[in-house]
Amino acid sequence: MKITVLAGGVGGSRFVRGLREELRRRGSAHAEASGTDAAATADEVTVVVNTGDDLWLAGVRLMPDFDSLLYALAGVNDAERGWGRAGETERVSAELREWGVGWPWFTLGDLDLGTHLARTAWLREGLTPSQVGERLQRRWELGVRLVPATDTEVDTWVETADPDAPGGSREMHFQEWWTKHRAALPAIAFTQRNLDRARPAPGVVEAIAGADAVILAPSNPVVSIGTIVAIPGIREALAETAAPVVGVSPIIGGAVVRGMADACLSAIGVETDAAAVARHYGARAQGGLIDGWLVDDADASAVAALEASGLAAKAAPLWMRDPDSSAAVAGTALDLAARLRD
Ligand code: GDP
Ligand code: CA
Repeated sequence: MKITVLAGGVGGSRFVRGLREELRRRGSAHAEASGTDAAATADEVTVVVNTGDDLWLAGVRLMPDFDSLLYALAGVNDAERGWGRAGETERVSAELREWGVGWPWFTLGDLDLGTHLARTAWLREGLTPSQVGERLQRRWELGVRLVPATDTEVDTWVETADPDAPGGSREMHFQEWWTKHRAALPAIAFTQRNLDRARPAPGVVEAIAGADAVILAPSNPVVSIGTIVAIPGIREALAETAAPVVGVSPIIGGAVVRGMADACLSAIGVETDAAAVARHYGARAQGGLIDGWLVDDADASAVAALEASGLAAKAAPLWMRDPDSSAAVAGTALDLAARLRD
């Protein structure tokens, strides 16, 4: 089966790891039952990765969501801290701070910097970001294919209230708002640069068009999924694909599970609520993005109204705490997609 997932960093990584695990389990169960080789029935997973958080810093190109997925799938991520590499050191970052290069509040780990240097070197040689992404993935057996949503630099900028000039506003890169200000400065608007000339990266439209199921990971609806579908051509590909499009709610019981996505939702006037995010995405039959929507059991009372509004909805446990719970979430999404295909 061909599965295409749209994803951001943390929620995206947890979901895609769960999906890989679930497919392995289903594959071996199937192989055992039919006496065939599991590899012969191999599934193909393509992950279209948000590039809105990307930035140039200290002379190198950072692609935080891509690297989060890369490290998590390779098993070299720092699971405790929730970002970056396991066993990381920060000697170079300390030195950069002395030079006054980069952002003192944005630590670049030494191992992580190795990735950024490799990426930047290849970009300098003329490779595109998606070609660079392909090279980075060759190092490990990820079991899925990661593709940046676009090769164009569409970095997200945030217009916020100006902390130094009451009543005024100022613009800053998304990473400054998110990491330095912890999303606490009220956001007025999010803008992706260069969107007018951005195109989906090679393979993205094909992966959506040729999929048996498309899944929107439980990622930030505004600055992860929102950025991906804002790239001209991607929303259209979602509208046209014959595959069912299923979304997994990143909101449980009226709160974000991890992170500060609520600050992004309120900036665009969407309530931090599983059903409100579903309505924001909208039913494909009515010009929206999704056919089906998974909410957590805590939000089961929203299912009937969502079904009445033209979405296939289902409640299930959506906390991804470990391989078993993450695989179960992915399995429920696959089952909802299968139900929609029939
Ligand atoms: P980022 O790029 O690192 O911000 O990560 P994403 O955009 O992929 O995902 C952020 C979203 O993931 C947040 O809104 C969280 O609520 C959601 N999330 C994180 N962990 C879980 C989980 O275990 N279950 C669900 N349903 N959502 C989660
Ligand atoms: Ca992100």
